[in-house]
Amino acid sequence: KAHGSQKVVRYDSHMKAADLDYKRIEVELRRALVDGTGFEMYYQPIVSTREPSQASRYEALARWSCPTLGQVDPERFINVAETSGLILQLGWLLLDLVCQDIKNVDNTVINLNISPAQLMTPGFAEEFSNRISGYGIRPCRIEVEVTEQIVLRDDITIAKELSVLRACGFSLALDDFGTGYSSIGYLKRVKFDVLKIDRSFVRSSYNSNKDAQMVASMVGLARSLDLEIIAEGIETVQDADCLRGIGVDYLQGYYFGRPVPFKVVEANRRFYQIHDLEAGG
Ligand code: C2E
Ligand code: CA
Ligand code: CA
Ligand code: CA
Repeated sequence: KAHGSQKVVRYDSHMKAADLDYKRIEVELRRALVDGTGFEMYYQPIVSTREPSQASRYEALARWSCPTLGQVDPERFINVAETSGLILQLGWLLLDLVCQDIKNVDNTVINLNISPAQLMTPGFAEEFSNRISGYGIRPCRIEVEVTEQIVLRDDITIAKELSVLRACGFSLALDDFGTGYSSIGYLKRVKFDVLKIDRSFVRSSYNSNKDAQMVASMVGLARSLDLEIIAEGIETVQDADCLRGIGVDYLQGYYFGRPVPFKVVEANRRFYQIHDLEAGG
């Protein structure tokens, strides 16, 4: 009995801590959104398996440095933003940051994460498109990533907003592919351009024949639906070789580069350009 009550106490205090954590993040997030400071976008290269030396495609990933909480894990604050409804305001702020970063460089394609809550807002796609063209950025430079979670919701507004985005010229990627259920039917109803294979498959493909076969069948599915495939979570040269061998189109992961601020992306690119010129001349 004593054991039992001890367990209950422990469980309770754990729950309270988590709750407090959530509440504190929400309060701080609300405060941060008033003046919009503390947020920055980082960019991780996505490398073509055909032209591995060229990373002209990046995934934009949000970072938040809170004056009182410090660096908050993106998974955590995005989740709080989603459940508290703050994601709409935060999403527009992050989009502005991305547009400011890329408006003066040509040809860089950016993969941008969008939450289901954003897509459940009627008119979202139109405003998204207007804001981006307001910066003079062509829609073909933006690929919208939505997680497989949207398949479970199967919401009519989401499907509509997605098709409007695509009609505006944005491409669509289905993120974390393989972690949800029955996305195949959804892929027939909503047209996507890219599948992103979740890193849980990538990590094990090198060791496990079964997982490698599953990835191979995802590639087959993608081919038959005329989709491209990005494999994420490539951490080693073995991962890269394995996934390239299976036939995916793009690779992304720490092996090719961690997410970094845009000025670092630009500095690296300049370095490569000079390097290429020297090699060429
Ligand atoms: P995600 O969209 O699946 O993004 C990929 C995550 O995997 C990123 O975590 C990235 O840093 C991490 N990653 C990349 N390569 C590797 C690797 O080789 N190994 C491992 N272990 N991890 C790798 P991050 O930046 O912490 O973001 C976490 C999640 O937060 C994202 O998952 C996405 O769902 C969400 N998120 C991040 N930024 C945004 C945003 O601007 N908007 C929205 N709605 N969600 C965002
Ligand atoms: Ca993503
Ligand atoms: Ca993902
Ligand atoms: Ca994820």
